[in-house]
Amino acid sequence: MDHFLQREGVLFAEEVSLEEVASCYGTPCYVYSRATLERHFRAFQEALQGQKHLVCYAVKANGNLAVLDILCRMGAGFDVVSIGELERVLAVGAEAGKVIFTGTGKREDEMRRALEVGIRCFSVESESELYKLNAVAKSMGKRAPIALRVNPDVNPQTHPYIATGLKDSKFGIPATRTLEAYRLAKRMDFLEVVGMDCHIGSQLTELDAYREAALRLKHLLEVLAQEGICLRMVDVGGGFGIRYKDEEPFLPCAYASLLESVFGASNDYEMVVEPGRAIVGNAGVLLMRVEVLKQADTLHFAVVDAGMSELIRPALYGAWMDILPVRKREDVEARLWEVVGPICESTDFLGKERSLALKEGDLLAQRSAGAYGFSMSSNYNARPRAAEVMVDKTQHFLVRERETLPKLWEGEHRLP
Ligand SMILES: *Cc1c(COP(=O)(O)O)cnc(C)c1O
Repeated sequence: MDHFLQREGVLFAEEVSLEEVASCYGTPCYVYSRATLERHFRAFQEALQGQKHLVCYAVKANGNLAVLDILCRMGAGFDVVSIGELERVLAVGAEAGKVIFTGTGKREDEMRRALEVGIRCFSVESESELYKLNAVAKSMGKRAPIALRVNPDVNPQTHPYIATGLKDSKFGIPATRTLEAYRLAKRMDFLEVVGMDCHIGSQLTELDAYREAALRLKHLLEVLAQEGICLRMVDVGGGFGIRYKDEEPFLPCAYASLLESVFGASNDYEMVVEPGRAIVGNAGVLLMRVEVLKQADTLHFAVVDAGMSELIRPALYGAWMDILPVRKREDVEARLWEVVGPICESTDFLGKERSLALKEGDLLAQRSAGAYGFSMSSNYNARPRAAEVMVDKTQHFLVRERETLPKLWEGEHRLP
């Protein structure tokens, strides 16, 4: 459930009409709902209440400081994949002790910074990384807390670009080598082996793959315990699907029961979950304006002022995301439109065959754009990045200014 609703034919974010947002801040513009964000985060907190747990929001889904701040105030931990994301969460005052650092190619300077601030855990994705991290920790006279990211080889039945737990995926350490990798880590003096991690993909709507992965982790934990390697943290990753169209995602409480049934409620392990999309996806829309209506041979195009530079999911994954008129029209007939951006690429579309009653100048809102929207945006075609606005009941706040043109070439230099 979210707080973007029609009222007398006009789309609102909480108590604020999107027409008002567009007239205050212009388009294209991302609009987030604080109440939705909080509701989704709370659902995970409450579902896991019975177990020792930490909900680490995956920053890459949406790293806006206002989003991070709201979640931080609610007690969230954070999953970061780069030094940039680490600095973002520190900038809102997050405790380093609640940060987990994942990523297949961490650099030494990133490891050093994370050790310096004292993060909760490194999720290590290769044997090579163990050696590197051990050396960095040694040079600083510290011990680095680690979990190994296990690749459990399960097929989560999602788009191949967002499946990460198959055996030939670049992520994690293959399950077959996990025990050996733990023994190796255990022998290193500057590593503290604390947990096990996995993350099998994104936008998953079936619990089966999670159950399979959890059972594999449980088995590995037992084998390790027999060797005297006892872990205290199990990080089961994120990837929880949301409804874009007609998906029927499971609820956080169903997932929590699954964890409890596999790992027990005995608090032997601290359970960490890393939802990104499930928290912020349906808490945001992309607001845009129709610039041009035109007809090709057979297709009708609505060219809007946002495109793959603002929202790349349709172009990158063929993702379907709903497109709604901000104000419903009765004076023209609905027809099928290809909703496209102004970018010079044929993949630059936001929606195909959408039934809409449109005139030039109309406002549209693309739903479920809070996750992997702004965070994957670019300046392609020299387009300044969109503004971001947070609605909180009757108030609205500019949480990121629209980029200005001079900012685009700030830091560039001509030859003398
Ligand atoms: C991307 C990612 C997540 C979050 O994925 P969602 O699908 O947004 O929930 C969590 N953990 C790791 C390690 C990731 O790479």
